[in-house]
Amino acid sequence: MAIQPTPDPRSLDVRSEQAVPAPRGAADDLAPTFTDADLVELRRSVAGPVLTAGDDGLAAEVAAWNVAVQHTPALAVGATCSADVVAAVSWAVAHGLKVAVQATGHGPVRDAAGALMVTTHRMQGVFIDPGTRIARVQAGVQWATVMRAAAEYGLAGLCGSSSGVGVVGYTLGGGMGSLGRLHGFAADHVVAAEIVPADGRLRRVTADSDPELFWALRGGKGNFGIVTALEFELVPVPSLFGGGIFFAADDAPAVLHRFRQWAPTLPEEVGTSIAILRLPPMEELPPPLRGQTVVHLRFAYTGADHAEAERLLSPMKTAGTILLGYVGPMRTDEMDGIHMDPVDPLPSWDKGMLLAELPEEAVDALLEAAGPQVDVPLIMVEIRLMGGALGRPAAVPNAVAGRAGAFSMMVLGPGVPELAQVVPAVGKGVLTALMPWCAPGVLTNFLGDVTGPAEVLNAWPTDAQQRLVAVKRAVDPAGVFPFGHAF
Ligand SMILES: Cc1cc2nc3c(=O)[nH]c(=O)nc-3n(C[C@H](O)[C@H](O)[C@H](O)COP(=O)(O)OP(=O)(O)OC[C@H]3O[C@@H](n4cnc5c(N)ncnc54)[C@H](O)[C@@H]3O)c2cc1C
Repeated sequence: MAIQPTPDPRSLDVRSEQAVPAPRGAADDLAPTFTDADLVELRRSVAGPVLTAGDDGLAAEVAAWNVAVQHTPALAVGATCSADVVAAVSWAVAHGLKVAVQATGHGPVRDAAGALMVTTHRMQGVFIDPGTRIARVQAGVQWATVMRAAAEYGLAGLCGSSSGVGVVGYTLGGGMGSLGRLHGFAADHVVAAEIVPADGRLRRVTADSDPELFWALRGGKGNFGIVTALEFELVPVPSLFGGGIFFAADDAPAVLHRFRQWAPTLPEEVGTSIAILRLPPMEELPPPLRGQTVVHLRFAYTGADHAEAERLLSPMKTAGTILLGYVGPMRTDEMDGIHMDPVDPLPSWDKGMLLAELPEEAVDALLEAAGPQVDVPLIMVEIRLMGGALGRPAAVPNAVAGRAGAFSMMVLGPGVPELAQVVPAVGKGVLTALMPWCAPGVLTNFLGDVTGPAEVLNAWPTDAQQRLVAVKRAVDPAGVFPFGHAF
């Protein structure tokens, strides 16, 4: 049942309040109700906008980058500061509403139907202390802002393939990028988090203040409340040699087999991945790539010696016919040029797994399931090299899942209604073809489409699952935060 449009509550006489039943969310087990007077109270307690179902601006306020998910919350609070988040969470709990949070919408899992959605994109504060190399960022900040600011000091954050992704959501899920083999996951570098859990009280969580919650937050995603700010170490990156090379589809077998032999020999200074891309016939793409199936090699080297980078890359340069590419000196705030992920919103479906190894048979299985000669409705099938610091525990241990992988694999297809049955079936079929070589666990950020909380928890080993559930019960006993990759 949808809420009817209401007049601006600021002009309402609060004495003539009328109960408005909020729509029931999938996860609701209470019967939330709020009145116009309750909305007036909420609007008075936050600086940002409050939009309810029926308000013209609601759809735009909660629009996700991944347009396959269209959120239909009962209301949205556009938070401008942590006090707004405190007020929104407290109000939601008092009125029996579940709470969802969105920064950019790069990682929605399901519609936050019937919930109070806190949008954080107005919270754009970034402060960098070059002396300590600590960055403090508010909940709505995207990696592009951090990378630009950090580059001024020769520093970088451990961002992923796209700088349009939100720092907080990415980091809470671990966060694996091109510098990860040398420096680990983004979550490994977090030194403090400010969070509003279900009790509506803002707390600053550090290894000393609350070790168990600090462990769980760094990898356990958005299960424990809304993080209003993160503080984390930046890493020095005096020099970067990176980019990507697109190979012709016909050479996919040669390129992928060369990759499986070559990648494991690389030092930790190199991050690399390879993807079979089925590119759309978009004008924006250069002619050699437009509408083509190609193999895309990504490479990032952070050593000082660029001649060494050339030497390391050279075996791949002769692996097949190069259609296009640039690998060379690059600023750290230009790292989007390594993966060249799409920038504009896209309807997408994705799912990932980990591989313990990538032998000849695994590459053959991949080519048979999703190689260029097979007609599959997938945009990308990607394999990233892991290992190095990604395989080692953080200095202050955390809940990052998936360290056992030697490679991470991800399939991504169009998340459009016409292919709603086909894409997941085909995508899961490709992952199944590689199951003989799978490693335990999944990177939380690449869990993608899940059947429910049990599948999310399976990303971790049993002992970590028990710890995470215990922390969740302690800070969110009533399950106020059931969205995203929730358990
Ligand atoms: C194009 C693209 C490239 C990507 N590349 C990488 C990559 O290289 N490496 C990698 O590790 N991941 C990558 N990801 C996955 C990405 O890190 C996750 O989807 C991440 O959750 C996105 O965060 P967001 O805030 O941008 O998205 P949103 O959809 O806004 O948030 C997704 C989820 O993050 C959590 N969250 C967000 N903000 C908060 C908050 N303030 N408090 C608590 N929880 C919060 C919530 O659970 C929320 O549901 C990529 C995704 C895309 C679409």
